[in-house]
Amino acid sequence: MTSAPRYRCTSCGNLTRFDVTASRRTRSYHHYTVGGELSIEDEQVLDEAIESVECRWCGAAGNVEAVDPAELSISEG
Ligand SMILES: [Zn+2]
Repeated sequence: MTSAPRYRCTSCGNLTRFDVTASRRTRSYHHYTVGGELSIEDEQVLDEAIESVECRWCGAAGNVEAVDPAELSISEG
């Protein structure tokens, strides 16, 4: 997924580690063996809502902002 959002903590400059709380609505194929063992396949995310994003290092004290991925690839390059 190239369109995944990127984040930045403006408190400490962290770009890579976040605790993301999200709720997802998914549809998937639950495939049971005769013995009852489950394997889940073909999961589709129908809906996803990001509830909160916290910097792994600063926690709730951090100030995390969403960043345009293109902006980050420029600064990383
Ligand atoms: Zn931080």
